[in-house]
Amino acid sequence: MAIANTTARAQGFSPVERPWEQPWYAASGTDIGVFGWIMLIHATALVGLVMYPIPGWPVFLGALALAFIGGLGTTVAYHRAIAHRSVTLNPWARGVLTFVAMFNGSGAPASWASRHRQHHAQADTADDVSSPIFGGFWWAHLRWLWQTGPSPMDHYGRDLKAPSYIVWRYFQIPILTLSYLGPLYFGFAAFFWLGAIRLCFALHAQCFVNSVCHTEPGIVPGEDSSRNVRWLGLMHLMQGENWHRNHHSRPGWARLGWNWRQPDIGYLTILALEKLGLAYDVRDGRPHANPSGRDSLDTGRDADALEPAA
Ligand SMILES: [Zn+2]
Ligand SMILES: [Zn+2]
Repeated sequence: MAIANTTARAQGFSPVERPWEQPWYAASGTDIGVFGWIMLIHATALVGLVMYPIPGWPVFLGALALAFIGGLGTTVAYHRAIAHRSVTLNPWARGVLTFVAMFNGSGAPASWASRHRQHHAQADTADDVSSPIFGGFWWAHLRWLWQTGPSPMDHYGRDLKAPSYIVWRYFQIPILTLSYLGPLYFGFAAFFWLGAIRLCFALHAQCFVNSVCHTEPGIVPGEDSSRNVRWLGLMHLMQGENWHRNHHSRPGWARLGWNWRQPDIGYLTILALEKLGLAYDVRDGRPHANPSGRDSLDTGRDADALEPAA
């Protein structure tokens, strides 16, 4: 019961329920749209794989390019810059990266980042929103996306209530509509591959970080379950998110791959943006000037103290 009560406190669930004990299809009231969206893209992707199993190089490479650009939006802007503040982005660069992350199905930045801070702050406890130890593999991989209720903005995202973050919520449906339907302009093979199949691929690449990168055999609740998963680097197109144990060890670092054998294109992108003057205050172990005067967020436990930011 202690577990149920802590979960209820953090996420607003009934004290007598643990959300992972509900049927998989029982979406929370605020997440019905998420559930419907995930079902829609999977159904469409399945039809597409049957009808156009081999789409041709132009369409295939186009889908891969969209997934790559969107993945950079998520790892550089959502994860490293917004959730952890391990790098500060020029507002225009942050805006472009936020758009491509949303186009790739990552949701609005404030909800993504507040959920992610909660994950770090409560990792491997019952309050971890996506713990496979408590909820099992499918809970950690997908179900939490539609069964946990509202994002914990008051606790983990007070600084993200600024208009520059919140405004993106209102663009969510138009951007997803464009992402899903827009490729139809290039024909049916493009509709399926640049749309739903690419969106499913991007979704599961992210979901594997929550599931596989926290599935360590023999781990008991409370122990660090995070791990680096080399094969997942392929699915993340070498952008670095698969080095998840590194990341849990140094959550406030903008660098996830720590040596040349751990590719991290997300970090290289940040270095390139830094050279262009579009990123600064990069926290990666190097001395930095800290012109913003802000600290990076190691775990999200400090989120209470954050003031709204522009
Ligand atoms: Zn994690
Ligand atoms: Zn993180």
